[in-house]
Amino acid sequence: MPDLLALLDSVLPVTAARAELDAVAGDKSGLVGAPALLARPRTTEDVAALLRLANEHDFVVVPRGAGTGRCGGAVPERGGVVVDLMGMDRILEIDRRERIARVEPGVRLGDLQAAVEAEGLWFPPDPASAADCAVGGAIATSAGGLRGAKYGTMKHYVLALVVVLPSGEVIRTGARTRKSVTGYDLTSLMVGSEGTLGIVTEATLSLIPRPEAEGTLVAWFDDDESARRGVGAALDVQAVPRALEFVDARALGAVVAHRDDFMPGGTHGLVLVECDGPPAAVEGELALYDAALRGAGAARVERATDPVAAARLWAARRGISPAVTARWPHRFSEDVCVPRSEFVQMIADLHVIAERHGLSALGFGHAGDGNVHASILMERGDDEERARAKSAVREVFERALELGGTLSAEHGIAMTKREFLPLELSEANRAAQVALKRALDPNGVLNPGKIFPGS
Ligand SMILES: Cc1cc2nc3c(=O)[nH]c(=O)nc-3n(C[C@H](O)[C@H](O)[C@H](O)COP(=O)(O)OP(=O)(O)OC[C@H]3O[C@@H](n4cnc5c(N)ncnc54)[C@H](O)[C@@H]3O)c2cc1C
Repeated sequence: MPDLLALLDSVLPVTAARAELDAVAGDKSGLVGAPALLARPRTTEDVAALLRLANEHDFVVVPRGAGTGRCGGAVPERGGVVVDLMGMDRILEIDRRERIARVEPGVRLGDLQAAVEAEGLWFPPDPASAADCAVGGAIATSAGGLRGAKYGTMKHYVLALVVVLPSGEVIRTGARTRKSVTGYDLTSLMVGSEGTLGIVTEATLSLIPRPEAEGTLVAWFDDDESARRGVGAALDVQAVPRALEFVDARALGAVVAHRDDFMPGGTHGLVLVECDGPPAAVEGELALYDAALRGAGAARVERATDPVAAARLWAARRGISPAVTARWPHRFSEDVCVPRSEFVQMIADLHVIAERHGLSALGFGHAGDGNVHASILMERGDDEERARAKSAVREVFERALELGGTLSAEHGIAMTKREFLPLELSEANRAAQVALKRALDPNGVLNPGKIFPGS
């Protein structure tokens, strides 16, 4: 390994200060690595020069946005240089007529949403981490969130990219147009590739008009059976809500225990529905959900008529992450996705699996698109308990696949799930993907070992 600081110092802004390295050693997976150096590029050329040197001098480069990823994608597990893209944070263009935004990767998603809304437009992907996470990180994980049931995830909004390939060459993928089949779809290949195939230094994103109106409804349940029936009934409604969320009894209990400003309308779970569109359509859709949820046995149904009331209804759903972390600092949180019709079954099976291993679980998530946030909870987090929890996690994955689902809806694979990849992807499939990685990164300099351990 060369003296990296001496090598890179004249090429782009870098630091080896211990406190700064410590700040980028881990992400929200809880995993940490040992970076040798932190680079803070300002331009695409800075990134390109860094990767050319990585190939010449054989060191590893790990791209990083805001570090909110949950799977270890930005963790420098093999040391090397962490590339902090947060300094490339300009919104380069918002074109109202074309409904396009062109941005650098370090723009925070929440800032992009606000800037776009100020122009009367809308950028739908809305991960719960939107205020913190960066556009580049959201693209690299194809982040989703609360509006996925109607509007999909990041992959549905990326039209074109500027990417620095692992070799240091710069390419433009896609086009400013809504349609393009000129060659292979490298834009889609890059989205969700978790910083293993290239570093995104600019993105052209599609926007939509801001919905005219929105309405929110929450149904509370007093027993597990009717709560699950409620989710099923909501899924059967012939409408496309922008959010259809479920919170089970244990997750709800954690929120209640964590916040003294929060009054639940039922103890055994909630279903939250949010619709948008023309006011009459919103009203009509909410009426359908109201009837379906009451019919399923909801203890109480509340509707929000203004944004303040809507925020109050969202409080339980948005409060889950801090509440659960406070109560169960030791847990495995997975984000399996199953066909919508199997969402209720997956939640029920999650609890059965955890109990079989002498553990408890909680489940919540985006019922509207089948995305279950499944947590296996630990009380002590010692080796013995972790081994049991890991076995339970494996069974959760196996069950999701049996139900026709997939290992990860929106968080990715990176480090935490790579050992489970063979459960879903055949050997030939994995070999094809590793061959792709090797073709683009023959020297294995860009985020090696992520997703595919041997890559
Ligand atoms: C409280 C909380 C709530 C969350 N809620 C959601 C949710 O609702 N939906 C959801 O989908 N996710 C959610 N996440 C996960 C996470 O926020 C998202 O995946 C997010 O988009 C990651 O962005 P980041 O900038 O923090 O990326 P990082 O964590 O910095 O990086 C993530 C991956 O992207 C790569 N990367 C970063 N920038 C680039 C770039 N410019 N070019 C190439 N590769 C790059 C990294 O190498 C890494 O593999 C949540 C996380 C937290 C902590």
